[in-house]
Amino acid sequence: MPTLPELRDKLRRPLELERLRGFENKAVAGGLEKLMDGPLAGPFPKVREALRGYDDLSLAEREEALEAALNLLQDGSPRPSSPPKVARQDPQIPAAPAGSRLGPSAPLAQLDWGHGGLKKLNALGLQTLRDVLHNYPRRHEDRRALPSLAEIEDGQKATVSGVLISKTRTSPRPGMQILNAVLQTSSGERIKATWFNQPWVEKNLREGAKLILTGRVKRFGKSAQLGVEYMETLDSSSGNSASGSISIGRIVGVYDGKDGISQDFLRKSAQIALSRSDDGDYLPGHWRKQCNLTDLTDALQGIHFPSDEAHLSRADYRLRFDEYLFLELRMLLQGEDAVLLGKRFTATDRDMQDFEAGLPFQFTGAQRRVLYEIADDMRSEQQMARLVQGDVGSGKTAVAACALYLAFKDGYQGALMAPTEILARQHYVNMQSYLAPLGVRVGLLIGALTPKQKAEMQATIANGLVDIVVGTQALIQENVTWANLGLAVVDEEHRFGVAQRRKLLAGRPDVLVMSATPIPRSLALTAYGDLELSIIDELPPGRTPVETKLLQDTHRTQAYGFVMTQLREGRQAFVVTALIEENENLELLAATQLADDLRVILPEARIDLLHGKMPAAEKDAIMERFRAQAFDILVSTTVIEVGVDVPNASVMVIENAERFGLSQLHQLRGRVGRGSAKSYCLLVAGEHSQKTRKRLKIIEGSTDGFVIAEADLKLRGPGEIRGTRQSGIPDLKLGDLASDVEIIERARELAKHILSHDPVLKHPRLSGLREELQARSNQVAYREVI
Ligand code: ADP
Ligand code: MG
Repeated sequence: MPTLPELRDKLRRPLELERLRGFENKAVAGGLEKLMDGPLAGPFPKVREALRGYDDLSLAEREEALEAALNLLQDGSPRPSSPPKVARQDPQIPAAPAGSRLGPSAPLAQLDWGHGGLKKLNALGLQTLRDVLHNYPRRHEDRRALPSLAEIEDGQKATVSGVLISKTRTSPRPGMQILNAVLQTSSGERIKATWFNQPWVEKNLREGAKLILTGRVKRFGKSAQLGVEYMETLDSSSGNSASGSISIGRIVGVYDGKDGISQDFLRKSAQIALSRSDDGDYLPGHWRKQCNLTDLTDALQGIHFPSDEAHLSRADYRLRFDEYLFLELRMLLQGEDAVLLGKRFTATDRDMQDFEAGLPFQFTGAQRRVLYEIADDMRSEQQMARLVQGDVGSGKTAVAACALYLAFKDGYQGALMAPTEILARQHYVNMQSYLAPLGVRVGLLIGALTPKQKAEMQATIANGLVDIVVGTQALIQENVTWANLGLAVVDEEHRFGVAQRRKLLAGRPDVLVMSATPIPRSLALTAYGDLELSIIDELPPGRTPVETKLLQDTHRTQAYGFVMTQLREGRQAFVVTALIEENENLELLAATQLADDLRVILPEARIDLLHGKMPAAEKDAIMERFRAQAFDILVSTTVIEVGVDVPNASVMVIENAERFGLSQLHQLRGRVGRGSAKSYCLLVAGEHSQKTRKRLKIIEGSTDGFVIAEADLKLRGPGEIRGTRQSGIPDLKLGDLASDVEIIERARELAKHILSHDPVLKHPRLSGLREELQARSNQVAYREVI
């Protein structure tokens, strides 16, 4: 005879399983009521009572009933209703009284953000409490123990904090400026800090200011100095103790800033938001349990003010999971009417052969395979939505041209959209050369045309007097009326927007998206929603890979000496400056400074500058002049990443290469080696730790985008706590497609599970989830527009 506790245990297990499975009534064959009618439940009439009618209850009612039943099965002490929380309340975050707590949609104006605070938050695009709560730090720094400089080895990174005592500026030679400052730490240590070639820093250095500096230590015998890479000024008006304690002595979040908005302020805002937020969680408890997720409040505290690594990591996991969950929900909800009718083309082999016969080369095996995949889609009556992924120069554009030709042969018009005007121009030239000889009429529609030219082109499109039109995204968005649009090809960047809006495209053309960003298949499926994926995994024969060399910045002059020899041979060079994530103005200044330096170092060279803050037309004009060889060296921030062909450019110098992701370096490198000349990529690394070397060596040794993407991901150590954001997906702030396979799969599973029960999220218990989904979708839509 089993004892009563044994029986209780036996009954409890299937009930716990039921809870784990989300109250689907599938944990027990035949349902819970059947179980209750059986012998196991006999000795427990109250439990039986609690679960009466279970099969017919709603999810919420089931949860309630089951919790009650499980409580009854607890011997003696009632179960806690939620799991114990770990280090929940950060001492830094005083809880406001319950009555003053606000929901996530509360407008920021309902709270006090200090003088001018509301304006600053609005300037960052933050409008609601939710926005501030989910304005995550871009990265985290461990400032728990700020070491004494004396203990730090040469070349190591360190963060110090202290009060500025004095500053001096020297210029040892033309084009070189050194700013020195002395800081006194709270322990009385005096620290010498140095900024090289960053004169704009000086105005931020007031004597008596409390500073936090991060940089690398250089030792000269006994003395040490800090080469500053990152600086924060603590807001002294707010009293140092309170303000200091959220910025030092702990793991500290570093936010995306803007001029005049300090890290200190952003941290304080997060603190206020946390203290005033109600502790609601849009994700019901049993699903959190099922997916092993911490609750939302703990997660938000952990991302802004982690108490330790474990806290940060569970916070990061939860919030990343949510990003994918909402992404999946959004896509699943959108994909409801799965089969969209598109165009039906004949797309014959004969036409493909005719196209290829006109080329100065033969398609590679990979191009041919992808082309067949595309032709298959085009022949089907379903609307094509296919992504062609292939490294820079793998021949995507040639394949797209062929697809456009197939559309043309069936009497349809085609559109080719590029993210920028200059790329549109480049595609236009290419399409002319591919298609004009075959009798295809190719047109160009970009903002830079005169109003008259534009109107003419629009009329031509509407009257069907042009077959293929190349342009920017405006081609299919604005008042362009197509006589008969059959195929829209989209190059890079706007991929997501287009994929999701494809059902809105007038006339339902088939859609082909091209991208050079390597994304593993399973991830692509998620990230690109309902896009099918084709990969061109082979380069055309006869390419000489770009020779890549890693140099320490001490050898910079050598690098530029080499650039000069290339220029003397009539070539041109790109020079890309470091990414300064905190502040785009600084990035601009850094680029300007570098261009000035180069004018001193390379007096013979003609040098010009391109940066992200320029108006599009100005960028285009500079690129045009560079292509036309009006100058020799283009210094730029990362804006050139998106592919512009300058065949005569044979060198790419990347300064502070260690600050870039490997995939990004790979993309940048792809800007050279597009002509016939042998090409070079010089990675100048400011930091030369073992780890950095190892990472950058991968780029030196490989030209395969996939290999690089994977290696990048493996090498991203926990030291970086989180990788750079490279996904380009508006839904993802934390999520990193390269490394989140497992979490994506889990989130997707849960999303499917949720929708299989409640296809439109109408259950009252899911109202929080629905609201959050709505809010996030609006955000995404907003970000897609700007
Ligand atoms: P992507 O769009 O992938 O960057 P493109 O289609 O622009 O690549 O091709 C890059 C260059 O290679 C172009 O000059 C193109 O003419 C050439 N090319 C494309 N396919 C082949 C091929 N199969 N064999 C030789 N050259 C090719
Ligand atoms: Mg291309």
